[in-house]
Amino acid sequence: MALLVCKFGGTSLATPERVQAVAKKLVAYHRQGERVVAVVSAMGKTTDDLLALAKSVNPHPPARELDRLLATGEQASMAVLAMAIEALGVHSTSLSGRQAGIMTTTVFSRAQISEVRADRINEELDCGRIVVVAGFQGITPKGDITTLGRGGSDTTAVALAAGLQADLCEIYSDVAGVYTADPRIVQRASKLANISYEDMLELAAAGSGVLQMRSVELARNFGVTIYCRSAFSADVGTYVREGKAMEESIVTGIVSDLSKAKVTLRGVPDRVGLAAELFGTIADGGVLVDMIVQNISEFGLTDISFTVPKSELSRLEPILDKLVQILGVRGFIVAEDVAKISVVGAGMQSSPGIAAQMFKVLANCGVNLDMIATSSIRISVVVGAAGVEQAMRELHTAYGLDSDSDFADTHLTAAELEAKMTKGR
Ligand code: ADP
Ligand code: ASP
Ligand code: MG
Repeated sequence: MALLVCKFGGTSLATPERVQAVAKKLVAYHRQGERVVAVVSAMGKTTDDLLALAKSVNPHPPARELDRLLATGEQASMAVLAMAIEALGVHSTSLSGRQAGIMTTTVFSRAQISEVRADRINEELDCGRIVVVAGFQGITPKGDITTLGRGGSDTTAVALAAGLQADLCEIYSDVAGVYTADPRIVQRASKLANISYEDMLELAAAGSGVLQMRSVELARNFGVTIYCRSAFSADVGTYVREGKAMEESIVTGIVSDLSKAKVTLRGVPDRVGLAAELFGTIADGGVLVDMIVQNISEFGLTDISFTVPKSELSRLEPILDKLVQILGVRGFIVAEDVAKISVVGAGMQSSPGIAAQMFKVLANCGVNLDMIATSSIRISVVVGAAGVEQAMRELHTAYGLDSDSDFADTHLTAAELEAKMTKGR
């Protein structure tokens, strides 16, 4: 008897029909004799709607109250799924993060799971029930509800798989696995059969939303095998597990990320310790900084550019206002109309010319580079947001990643899916 953790994202649970389709899948596993734990996201765009609701009454909602509110999205969907399972004649218990024993740190809006106390889940499984757990949330030692950051249900699923020593952690979404690029942007993206933790971590860090980065870190640390697959078809998916990079491919994937803003500090005094003070203060304010580039001019003044999530700008700007005064910086400029494009692959460590090829393709597309940062297995550039999709497709072709089939030809649109599901009932 295997223990399976199966996570379903918001799109997979967006309508009553989809919830019923998910219930059917779980019941089929249960009837095969598996012990089944489902982890759910909020239905459809519920989290965005709750966020908008909070902002409509307070542009800067207190983090504790916001987490309390956002956690309700997953709590509604867990109950609805448990009801749908019961309607198929199998007993099911839904558990909130607190009830499922997901203990976290006290960093509201991006808490980290510190421990899984799985006794209650095991009790319910021992009674032959399908357990449905609300993703994206946990509880602090003091008893406050926290959330794990956008996409955090992936992390709930992997943490439970690790804590319960599950045989497999299946992540169901609206695409059939991990592709060489977002198949909604690059229609010729190729599905990967396997991807190493290392490559998957880089894709996630570069901003590919298919798995939350923290979930991949946990999977690597605890040796959890993740299987990414479609909630809507039985297509073969992608295994994320320990392994060497595929020998034949130098580049594993290409990622675009439109969620970042570029901040430039103008006229920063050029002196020892300034960067430490600057970024220390920003970090103390709880803002996550991504790429950093510094240009020293001849006149003892420096420009420093860095990227931050757009969602952090409201927290960052008051900090920068203060820093400008304290440190004698001339001013700062925020550009939101930017995109980060990254080329990722463990194979590029031993292969020269990958960066040069990227810059050439982007130049041919007329794309100007604002920032460049490299690691041994990733090259990231920040560019203006216009023309990014075309540039992604050109890069994909240039690195020889194109598949023979077109994603749009082999995947149903949302409307076609709905029609198929309604007919199938
Ligand atoms: P869920 O709501 O189920 O968690 P997400 O929207 O978070 O699903 O993740 C799935 C989406 O990730 C896909 O619809 C796809 O557009 C996007 N995506 C981005 N990069 C990739 C990639 N390399 N492979 C597959 N999907 C990707
Ligand atoms: N509902 C949360 C979000 O939209 C968590 C998740 O879907 O994983 O980010
Ligand atoms: Mg997700």
